[in-house]
Amino acid sequence: MSELEDPVVRFEHVSKTYHADGQDQHALHDVSFDVPAHSFFGVIGSSGAGKSTLIRTVNGLERPTSGTVTALGKNPAAITKTELSSLRREIGMIFQHYNLLQSKTVAENVAIPLLLAHTAKDAIGQRVQESLRMVGLSEHAQSYPSQLSGGQCQRVGIARALVTNPAILLSDEATSALDPVTTRQILDLLNDINSQYGISVLLITHQMSVIARSCQQVAVLDHGDVVERGAVSQVFSHPSNPLTRQFVETVVPRQLPEALAARIAQGEEGTTVLIRYRDDAAKHVLAALQSSTGAHEVALLHANENALRDVSIGQLVVSLQGADGATLGTKLGELAADDLEFEVLHE
Ligand code: ADP
Ligand code: MG
Repeated sequence: MSELEDPVVRFEHVSKTYHADGQDQHALHDVSFDVPAHSFFGVIGSSGAGKSTLIRTVNGLERPTSGTVTALGKNPAAITKTELSSLRREIGMIFQHYNLLQSKTVAENVAIPLLLAHTAKDAIGQRVQESLRMVGLSEHAQSYPSQLSGGQCQRVGIARALVTNPAILLSDEATSALDPVTTRQILDLLNDINSQYGISVLLITHQMSVIARSCQQVAVLDHGDVVERGAVSQVFSHPSNPLTRQFVETVVPRQLPEALAARIAQGEEGTTVLIRYRDDAAKHVLAALQSSTGAHEVALLHANENALRDVSIGQLVVSLQGADGATLGTKLGELAADDLEFEVLHE
């Protein structure tokens, strides 16, 4: 998986304005970013932020008003119908409401993209079986959608998206109609598909928990503008935009409990330090704090840790009893590292 590989999707200054009822609706405004090959990329935004519009420009279901989308080297808005059909076979898409045909079996539903592509009959059977195996539904090939749970229906939707052997999978709120446990199972399935087969995933969602569990990179969309973008570990540990902070707060509560915050502010806990860490970077931090600051006790006031897809991030609040206030900043600076940060809450 070479870093030199071209991105699978490139958005360059993409804007989209809808004209409805004599009014202009600006759905996207100057959106630019790349989706790297083989990556799992998430776009989060509130309802109406422009997420569906954005993802639909990738397979040519929407056409930008200005700017360019490049998907697998092609511009879906500037190629012939035949070229677009062939591009769409390389881009699978899954939806919130699965879009399955109720009168057809699971296998028949999964076969639809191959029938549309006039694939040879004997190749269809084999490829359908393979896709159902990838999503763990081999046993249900002859079932009908009405006999399946929501999670199983979404697996059928994923198998149908995979049946043409795509390089990209687009997911438009694919877990939004599912309960939390099923959501996790479907996200884990998408993670497996991404890491085992190298299929790039571009997922859009309004739930930050979905981003946390699955994505490596994230872009935050606010009323058509990308307001923040970066590695998920970075955005979760250092969100800079106010909207991003709100989204992050839903998964990683950074606010301290009110009563504790008040005690610290009033000095009742003495010298108090907030520690932010990644993975096991805080393993020896309590002992190190005690010996380097000269504190006679390090008391733990608060702790939380959250597992993201590739990394865990956590925060601790400690009070340092008997620490030398004059040298505290210097000592903390010596202990700090990329994955271990300190903030003095009260001296
Ligand atoms: P999201 O998926 O983030 O909820 P959408 O991309 O569906 O957002 O919509 C972005 C904005 O564009 C919304 O204000 C929506 O009402 C508007 N919009 C979307 N599709 C159309 C359309 N076909 N015609 C007119 N307005 C649309
Ligand atoms: Mg949408």
